[in-house]
Amino acid sequence: MKTVYGPVLSWRLGRSFGIDLICKPRKVCSFDCIYCQLGKTKQKTLERKVYVKTERILKDLNEALPRVRADVITFSGTGEPTLAKNLGEIIDFLKKKTNLPLAILTNSTLLANKKVKDVLNRLDIVVAKFDAFDEKSFKKIDNPVKGILFKEYFEGIQNFRRGFLGKFALQIMFIKENKDFAKEIANLAKKLSPDEIQINTPLRPCKAKPLNQKEIKKIKKEFSGFTNMISVYGADKLKVLPLDLKEIQKRKRPES
Ligand code: SF4
Repeated sequence: MKTVYGPVLSWRLGRSFGIDLICKPRKVCSFDCIYCQLGKTKQKTLERKVYVKTERILKDLNEALPRVRADVITFSGTGEPTLAKNLGEIIDFLKKKTNLPLAILTNSTLLANKKVKDVLNRLDIVVAKFDAFDEKSFKKIDNPVKGILFKEYFEGIQNFRRGFLGKFALQIMFIKENKDFAKEIANLAKKLSPDEIQINTPLRPCKAKPLNQKEIKKIKKEFSGFTNMISVYGADKLKVLPLDLKEIQKRKRPES
């Protein structure tokens, strides 16, 4: 399994070249979201460690980067990328090698961690997950590892946002469990002052059913106060030519 894949077509980021710092056949994550396209989280953890040796990642990057035609380089893949302790080293390397913007898709659980915060502050784009509005909905939808409380989670995002100078986007996955609470989520989202709101619903195969266009339209009304809102149904369809299709299929979520 390679640590790089794509470019894939992302409705949020354009042509996105992916880096997977976890790179496991089964994902490693601090959440076990009911809509996760990667299946159930077998290794639910908040432990930060080196999951793939830095040398191996740099080797893959050195091979792939000269051929990459992308709009952005994104840390994503088979789990939560902030769990990888060598994320900072890879950012250092990329800053020397490319002028492409650097982004991360994070579930936001480690945004309160000082070391993670410092590392993410060097990125151009942070896309932070935010699906719930209270402790109960947090447990039901995102099913976090023991010890993460919604209040602390929310405050962690809020504090991170205050210090982040790049583009800060909130990604909200709507499914039947939270669709009637869009107003509550929008009210909390306002307090996080995002540069962009991304309204999502799981269109790829997973355990949760996607909402239809009418339901998403209703939800969007609750977010009408946000000037920069995009939704998965309104996204433009771009064309993209991946370097290696097999590597994308292993991640099973090419739209992210
Ligand atoms: S945070 Fe992402 S990778 Fe982790 S369980 Fe949720 S959807 Fe899956």
